[in-house]
Amino acid sequence: MLVLLDRDGVINEDRPDFVKSPEEFVFLKGAVEAIARLKSAQHLIAIVTNQSCIGRGIITEERLASIHQKLCTELAKHQCSIDHIYVAPDAPWNATEMRKPGAGMIKAALSKFRHSPENTVLVGDAKRDLQAAAAAGCHRILVQTGKGMKTQKDGLEPDLLPVSVAKDLAEATDFILQGRFAA
Ligand SMILES: [Mg+2]
Repeated sequence: MLVLLDRDGVINEDRPDFVKSPEEFVFLKGAVEAIARLKSAQHLIAIVTNQSCIGRGIITEERLASIHQKLCTELAKHQCSIDHIYVAPDAPWNATEMRKPGAGMIKAALSKFRHSPENTVLVGDAKRDLQAAAAAGCHRILVQTGKGMKTQKDGLEPDLLPVSVAKDLAEATDFILQGRFAA
């Protein structure tokens, strides 16, 4: 499958003031191991992340690259890697289709990796992740890390369902490896 991962709140700790440096990028427990398990099972993995901190002028593209270098270095220690990282740098007031809930990043990934939505799953913690995935027609898993508990508590509109709910990326990985999706 093609596995699309939101970044903040799924792979690393979400921060209300944005991840602005490699030091502020802190992996969630078990996330690296989960990505390694997905790669061992031959799945393709892409990150699809909104980073309005760029559009807001808080960090530069170069700084973001250094943050992602830390991510990739840590994964390499576990003999795994991410196949592609999609970033929507748009500020919310100047959003394009790339910024979730837009489906632009997902559509770009489906095209690049030549996967159908039915063979693609997105793992996210925010409603806009699920909205983007629903718009593209791929499977959706909500993790309870990051904003996930609040997203679940706030309730999901019928057009976002079905959504599988996992404790964290490790459990979402169990679902994916077992082909278990809510239907
Ligand atoms: Mg998130």
